[in-house]
Amino acid sequence: MINRRQFLQSAGWALAASPVVGILGCTQKLAAEYVIIGSGPAGIALADTLAQAGKQVLVLEGGTRQTDTALQSMHDVEAGQWGLPYNLGWATQRVLGGTTNLWQSHSPRPLEEELASQTLRGFGEDWPLTLNTLTPWLASSERWLHVRPAQPELNPSLPKNPYIDTSTALSELLSGKGYTHLEAGAYGMVSGEGADADALRLLDDGEIDRVAALNTVAVRPGTIARRIRMTGERAVGVECADLKGNAFFVEAGTVIVCGGGIQTPRLLWNSGVGNHSDWLGAGFMEHPGMQIYGHRAAPLLPPGVPETHIHVRDMLYDPAHNGLGGTLLHVGLKPGAPNREYTMVEVLFEQAPDRRNRILPGNKKDALGDPIPRIDYRLTELDLATIQRGQQLQHTLAEHIGSVDNTSPLRTGSHHLLGATRMAANPANGVVDTDLRVWGTDNLYVASSSAFPTGLTVPPTLIIVALAQRLAQHLTNTPRPI
Ligand SMILES: Cc1cc2nc3c(=O)[nH]c(=O)nc-3n(C[C@H](O)[C@H](O)[C@H](O)COP(=O)(O)OP(=O)(O)OC[C@H]3O[C@@H](n4cnc5c(N)ncnc54)[C@H](O)[C@@H]3O)c2cc1C
Repeated sequence: MINRRQFLQSAGWALAASPVVGILGCTQKLAAEYVIIGSGPAGIALADTLAQAGKQVLVLEGGTRQTDTALQSMHDVEAGQWGLPYNLGWATQRVLGGTTNLWQSHSPRPLEEELASQTLRGFGEDWPLTLNTLTPWLASSERWLHVRPAQPELNPSLPKNPYIDTSTALSELLSGKGYTHLEAGAYGMVSGEGADADALRLLDDGEIDRVAALNTVAVRPGTIARRIRMTGERAVGVECADLKGNAFFVEAGTVIVCGGGIQTPRLLWNSGVGNHSDWLGAGFMEHPGMQIYGHRAAPLLPPGVPETHIHVRDMLYDPAHNGLGGTLLHVGLKPGAPNREYTMVEVLFEQAPDRRNRILPGNKKDALGDPIPRIDYRLTELDLATIQRGQQLQHTLAEHIGSVDNTSPLRTGSHHLLGATRMAANPANGVVDTDLRVWGTDNLYVASSSAFPTGLTVPPTLIIVALAQRLAQHLTNTPRPI
């Protein structure tokens, strides 16, 4: 743990070395119609969409342009009663652009069946939003994130995903083995670039600068939101500190917390808001996962193609999977030496929400003296049963496509931080309503994977951005995307 003096020394350097974008002066009164906390994909997509509707937006970001150990220590977490599955504090990045500086753009859409876990499988609660409601936002999210969808007909304006054509032989092999729910184009990839293009990085790819340059937007790096100030049911602003530890207040018409899956519930805890139903922090989920590697002597990739990827979604429809969480299988192929093709079968397991898996205020404090989050996290009996069945399916599939050379250990998380400010249609069952407004408040919102009521099998960012854009439309009453 870094102490206050080390934090202020190092963080002061980070700010000095960090040219700021669209900054409002520290000494002037800070106020904005919409104040967004966090400049990850949720915060920047929201700011972008609000600005397009002419709204005045101020984004407060604790990080700067550089990743920095002292700044990152503001994401320290405390192990709860079952220890930590991995260093969850480092699953989010305290830097402009948030965790997109690390993400891999793996962005399949969710399936309707996944949103109905209670009806179809008997655990959790169905999402209070249908796939039909989400679909236009998923399409606009794909455009905003520049990912190439697996079904090009759903988003014809985007370049075709290169893996769609290159996985034909693999698809045929799997169809021949009886698999029916196949989806080529497993990775998102950045549109307009080659097959090995990197994922969209909000900072390095200039997206933050583009949004910060919009007339009605300012982005203020090095600004740590410590508490949301409430007057009755109204959020009136945000109590902040700069990187020298100076306190100041930002007045807000509306506050939207986009701090990621752990810092979002933490900020609500530290602000004393959002726990009306005892759900704040509860139902925290991750995506456990593992890989099986192998090789084939008879290549399935067309000559000269560097890789291909495909999803196999049959497991949601597998009768032996009834009552269990979903399983997303992702098959990858890469060429090796002549007559040697490398295979990978990766799996993501859906965890079910459990109230005892919870983010709570910890005993330790950060450099500014605020409680860091304590995380109670473990795999439940249901999760272990999901994993056991999913592993059988994964092994069978791996054997269908090639020899099984080695298997990675089960990892208990994939940097997908879900569920700790869950969305519910009824205030007794969650923290935010279907418009992402914190129940019991007039103007405090959350845009984050922490609002997911169940974990689904798909990585979260596509849905995070979809929900943020949908929130912007709700706040501005503008037309839905087509
Ligand atoms: C290695 C890795 C690979 C990944 N790969 C994928 C993938 O392939 N597909 C996928 O969908 N997802 C992936 N993810 C997850 C993805 O990166 C996150 O889901 C996504 O970035 C979350 O977006 P966000 O805007 O909610 O939060 P973040 O990106 O975490 O942004 C939150 C921002 O809020 C700031 N902040 C937090 N608290 C405060 C505060 N109190 N005051 C001021 N600022 C604050 C943080 O500094 C940060 O910049 C991956 C993650 C990792 C780490």
